[in-house]
Amino acid sequence: MHNKSLDMKRTKLVIIGSGPAALTAAIYAARANLAPIVFEGFSSGPVGGQLMTTTEVENFPGFPGGIKGPELMERMRKQALDLKIEILTEDVIAVELIEELSKKAKRPFIIKGRRTWVQADALIIATGATARRLDVPGSEKFWQKGVTACAVCDGAAPIFHNQDLYVIGGGDTAVEEAIFLTKYGKKVFLVHRRSVLKASEIMTDRVKKHPKVEILWNHELVRIEGDTVVRKVVLKNVKTHQESTFSAGGVFFAIGHDPNTKFLGEQLKLRGNNYIYVDQGSSRTNIEGVFAAGDVHDYIYRQAITAAGYGCMAAMDAEKWLSEKGHL
Ligand SMILES: Cc1cc2nc3c(=O)[nH]c(=O)nc-3n(C[C@H](O)[C@H](O)[C@H](O)COP(=O)(O)OP(=O)(O)OC[C@H]3O[C@@H](n4cnc5c(N)ncnc54)[C@H](O)[C@@H]3O)c2cc1C
Repeated sequence: MHNKSLDMKRTKLVIIGSGPAALTAAIYAARANLAPIVFEGFSSGPVGGQLMTTTEVENFPGFPGGIKGPELMERMRKQALDLKIEILTEDVIAVELIEELSKKAKRPFIIKGRRTWVQADALIIATGATARRLDVPGSEKFWQKGVTACAVCDGAAPIFHNQDLYVIGGGDTAVEEAIFLTKYGKKVFLVHRRSVLKASEIMTDRVKKHPKVEILWNHELVRIEGDTVVRKVVLKNVKTHQESTFSAGGVFFAIGHDPNTKFLGEQLKLRGNNYIYVDQGSSRTNIEGVFAAGDVHDYIYRQAITAAGYGCMAAMDAEKWLSEKGHL
């Protein structure tokens, strides 16, 4: 039912998200005269995306010496605003992409924010993913002071050099991150609750043989301690229930990501891991006119630069589709 206090708008293209994927898509779409409306979120994740939760970004081209994550995102947002893009600081809580009875694509789509509903011919979903963190004492206090959720992004930071580093997890990502961190750490400890890794056999063999990695089987993280940065971890042997304290210079959560796809309900095809399904080499989803960009579909690379690249692809795919369907 349409609530009277809701604002209803009509546009060619809506973009949902506020990270590098959404803002790059918005910039490309605005320059193609698509006048996109962007829902940047409010409480559905940090506005500005995952880079808002980090300090230095040293691998985004164009910034020798690095740039702070929030500053990079502020610059992208300003570039979008300079192009007169309408940005709504609202979460999208639901979408209508298919007709209930016919199960055919709805035309136009309806994107429902908390205060604004927008009818759009095309939609780009760039709502990213949320890295899981363990809610143990010290995890929040030392976040980005030795605790992080992205080894590839943060592992090279000087704070981790020649330190004892702890990777929490047991899947392929955890194993990859542990091996990656051996380039920087004195020793890397892979902390896993069970006595068998979930990672593939090849990865398990590699990590077991690695001279700088020690697997702490049947252990879980209990607490992170330190002063201004991480200094120690307290681990518990889940079999004996004995707790031990170890010196530590870094803690890396590698316990998975949750793509932000709940608001889609069951309307769009998702992969088994809940990431949006897209046709290989494109941003097209299973519904014509709906495109996906960035970490919401990419569970492999998960980097700001790839997300931005996917945002560019989605805007170009959307423009081509709108033009083919006579919406331009
Ligand atoms: C701690 C950490 C450090 C990192 N460091 C680096 C680094 O140094 N270099 C690098 O390249 N990558 C880094 N990354 C990875 C990088 O941040 C991500 O790959 C990138 O941000 C993904 O961009 P995205 O646009 O797909 O989505 P995100 O950045 O995840 O942004 C999505 C945003 O969309 C919005 N949103 C979600 N749901 C809704 C909704 N329902 N309605 C409206 N809006 C919504 C939210 O604001 C959300 O934050 C790091 C990640 C983490 C967690």
